[in-house]
Amino acid sequence: MVSEFVEGWTIAQTLGEGAFGEVKLLINRHTGEAVAVKIVDLEKHPDAKNSIRKETCILRMLTDPHIIKFYGQRRDGNLEYIFLEYAAGGELFDRIEPDVGMSAWEAQKYFKQLVAGVEYLHGRGIAHRDLKPENLLLDENDNLKITDFGMATLYRMQGKERPLEKRCGTLPYVAPEVLLRPYHAEPADIWSCGVILVAMLAGELPWDKPTPDCPEYRDWKAGKYIQTPWSKLDNMALTLIRKMLVPLPSSRATLQQLKNHRWYQKRFVKSLAKPSELTPVKKRQCSGLDLSPLEGVSNPEDMSMAARLCSSQPEPCPRTAIVMEKQEQVPSFSFSQPAHIEDLILNSQFHCTQQQTSSSQSTYQKLVRRMTRFFVKTNHEETLKELCGVLEKFGFSWKMNVAGVLTIGTVDKRKMKLVFKANLLEMGEHFLLDFRLSKGCGLEFKKLFVKLKGSLDSIIVKGPIMWPIAIATNSVP
Ligand code: ATP
Ligand code: MG
Repeated sequence: MVSEFVEGWTIAQTLGEGAFGEVKLLINRHTGEAVAVKIVDLEKHPDAKNSIRKETCILRMLTDPHIIKFYGQRRDGNLEYIFLEYAAGGELFDRIEPDVGMSAWEAQKYFKQLVAGVEYLHGRGIAHRDLKPENLLLDENDNLKITDFGMATLYRMQGKERPLEKRCGTLPYVAPEVLLRPYHAEPADIWSCGVILVAMLAGELPWDKPTPDCPEYRDWKAGKYIQTPWSKLDNMALTLIRKMLVPLPSSRATLQQLKNHRWYQKRFVKSLAKPSELTPVKKRQCSGLDLSPLEGVSNPEDMSMAARLCSSQPEPCPRTAIVMEKQEQVPSFSFSQPAHIEDLILNSQFHCTQQQTSSSQSTYQKLVRRMTRFFVKTNHEETLKELCGVLEKFGFSWKMNVAGVLTIGTVDKRKMKLVFKANLLEMGEHFLLDFRLSKGCGLEFKKLFVKLKGSLDSIIVKGPIMWPIAIATNSVP
């Protein structure tokens, strides 16, 4: 189901939502150009106006391969539309396997791109202040793009730095000094990068918040690295993280120091095998405070084993499909730059109706890559019945809107609100059941998705999906 946005431009999908509004994917029907639009109702939230003004002001200043591109904005009544480069690869958190993480090769690649993006920002005197995997997007080539500049601020002008006062960010990722204030911009962003690295390598967050009443944080400060997530890291990664998650901001590593670290410079052998498929030897053999180097995932022999494991996976997953695509030299689909962006920003016949048109193949090709979805063999009605039965069994609350999208609510293990959406899309001969996070922690959402998927196992399509050719070579699901 798609709807017309501006003449020639179609809303193909809701990409996500945040504090102030929704982000949707727009596709130009004639040219195939894809653009993301963040739609904010300025009247709905008292801070919206100010936040959007600041966000667009900062976005306008930025041009870097690791920062999402800003194309322009327009106002229509209460609604503000912000047009952004479309990141077809989805969110970084989607690549993190709960409790496991990702391969060291992948984590290092994303970490280096994150550091490059943050270095660019700091070089321009801008602090992001809300770095977390949900705000790190991936493009169609799996390159990281920092987004969501709603909390960003200018902290250095004409060489003069100002201390920051505003308490902002997301608790598990926020640096301890941000909660105490005032604080320096750069070390605070570096702390968040450290927590992101832990999430990528271990698939879990180290603590709820960096405060003395949080036992996991107290243990970290006391140098106790026996429990998870630390026990899952090899010593080299742990030494890097220890330099980033130093409670005293003035002693925390700088970006340059991170770049000089052995883990950062190490040449990991490329593997898309999930860490859970690697042999246990590659995990850090935990010995309390022992930080002597261990030969970890970079051992070539181990990696060839990992590669074998990866290639012997019977079920085609999106990641392996992409690798095969490259090996077989099938030309991959690439998104054109939106030459027709002015239609969106200037078109006088601007409207956002709910007029329904049929889904087209070009729309499928552009749908954001997301792991939290699967094909079902049941029809629309049966699928909803099965899904609602499982939701009831789990004790989740849920409601359906007029468009048939389910909003599901629960609390995670930290007693934090977790809200996500389930949408059923007809695609060829099957329905695709698509889940996306609305509010709450990305990793907790993924854990929950794995549980839900397990309970719906009997209706999930197991074999390969028969896609039209153009779709088979690209992104979905
Ligand atoms: P928050 O509550 O995090 O402050 P926000 O209202 O500022 O949210 P964003 O974080 O910018 O909104 O976007 C919300 C979500 O929408 C993202 O996490 C991502 O999943 C999706 N999204 C945003 N921008 C894009 C884009 N350019 N391409 C693809 N998906 C996007
Ligand atoms: Mg966000």
